[in-house]
Amino acid sequence: MSRRYVSAGRCAWPGCPVTARRDCLMCARHWTALPKRLRAPAWEHYVPGQDLATATPEYREALAAALDYARRANADAGRQAALEAEMRSRQGTLW
Ligand SMILES: [Zn+2]
Repeated sequence: MSRRYVSAGRCAWPGCPVTARRDCLMCARHWTALPKRLRAPAWEHYVPGQDLATATPEYREALAAALDYARRANADAGRQAALEAEMRSRQGTLW
């Protein structure tokens, strides 16, 4: 079972535990979270079955741009969560 999990490939979004379809870079949720300008080149250059050793430079560039966006989105989400936690703890002391 774990072998199958590995061959299916995990979503490329940093920190995402979801298994992506074998011919997909990311799970459906994160793929649609990518802006179209990043999705288009990643899709255009994606070759099913390729890995980092066989990928074209164009694909690597598209992938790097997508992951860069994902990391920034994750950082924003982390900041937002920290802010909300702080607001909650402040409310806790007020009430
Ligand atoms: Zn994902």
